Amino acid sequence: MTDDRPFWDKQVETISRDELAALQLARLRIQVDRLYHGSVFYREKLTATGFEPGALESLDDLTRLPLVTKQELREEQVSHPPFGRYTLVPPRQWAELHPSTGTTGVPVATIWSVRDVNVITDVTARTMWGVGVRSGDIVQNAFAYGLWVAGMSVHYATRHLGCFVIPIGAIATEQQIHYLRMAGPTVLFSTPSYALHIAERLKERGVAPSELSLRVGCFGGEAGTENPATRAKIEDGLGIKAYDYFGLGEIGPTMACECTAKVGLHWSEDLHIVEIIDAVTRRPVREGETGIVVLTHLDRDATPMLRYWTNDYAKLDTSPCVCGRTHARSPGGILGRADDLVIFRGAKFYPVQVEQVVRSLDGLGDEFRIERRHVGDGVVETCVVVAELAPGAEAQQAGVRDQLQDSLRSALGVTPEVRVEPFGAIERTTFKAKRLIDL
Ligand SMILES: [Zn+2]
Repeated sequence: MTDDRPFWDKQVETISRDELAALQLARLRIQVDRLYHGSVFYREKLTATGFEPGALESLDDLTRLPLVTKQELREEQVSHPPFGRYTLVPPRQWAELHPSTGTTGVPVATIWSVRDVNVITDVTARTMWGVGVRSGDIVQNAFAYGLWVAGMSVHYATRHLGCFVIPIGAIATEQQIHYLRMAGPTVLFSTPSYALHIAERLKERGVAPSELSLRVGCFGGEAGTENPATRAKIEDGLGIKAYDYFGLGEIGPTMACECTAKVGLHWSEDLHIVEIIDAVTRRPVREGETGIVVLTHLDRDATPMLRYWTNDYAKLDTSPCVCGRTHARSPGGILGRADDLVIFRGAKFYPVQVEQVVRSLDGLGDEFRIERRHVGDGVVETCVVVAELAPGAEAQQAGVRDQLQDSLRSALGVTPEVRVEPFGAIERTTFKAKRLIDL
């Protein structure tokens, strides 16, 4: 019989906001003390801001502490190889080394202690439980293993939950489809773009979603799952309920997930403090406003992060969720990455906004990319949105092209050039799709 309890850890997930704040402050004090006394890197940063140990009186004091950027971690690991001066536990307690993906430069190495592996496994199991994954489920884990931390954490959590796991990783689509049909997985983990690609290939082969056993999917590694058009395509194409999933190497691979109400990513606030910070003033924005997500570890053992600047834009909602969880949500998920902001003729937009337009037009396939060409000072000279015709839509090419241009104009407030190519012209990826190409 399926366990229908809604919470993995009811006490933690439904804690009152006041009790949560008290828990966070108590854990933050311990963590900052550890950083100050155990890490030269953090002590130098804290001292530079005039911080004295024991000075944290409330959570608001956190905003006075220094931010940490990925570039800083990279430089720290180069100047103090191999892991920088912020590893707080002795090597005999180290369990795993996880480099970041390196999509934005030299990878930064993160270390998980034995205790970190247990905490990460438990919070990942919590997110999976929240979307209805139970013992007896068969999980096809198409998150990359080895290269990418999310593969391992989902693997550990599936075993912790008592699921049967297919550790397939991000390998060729033909094999994904083979196991989807042969082993009957009920749960799929992958990037959203890869889920769409699998759905596209199933359709080409005439395999109906009803022929698969899939029920639930969690999609992370890229923004986009909460785009209504993208979510609908994944859900229809695979016959599942699709949930947004978020994590990042330096913080935790699988630490935020939607609940079945699909109203935004729930953070795990017992383990992380989530701040939304204005990209320019570096001050907290008001609740509901968009800013950069800044994350602080409350319980990380080996390589803790204090106010880590993620470069991801989101907003925060601490109001109660219909699911009963009290932990804050980011409605709409990650709204864009600061690195991916396109500034073109005075308008600013992110690839996810283009994605929403492309995937809402019937005559187009799911893939797209944005090609931009810079002149001096990083000014974008040309910006071309490249999309693909849907299979069988060749006769409508001119009409589809005009429709795309009109829809982009109203969605972005600016009119990029548009090019519509035959179906299949844009390269598919089993990992993170590259949407923004600088020519
Ligand atoms: Zn909820």
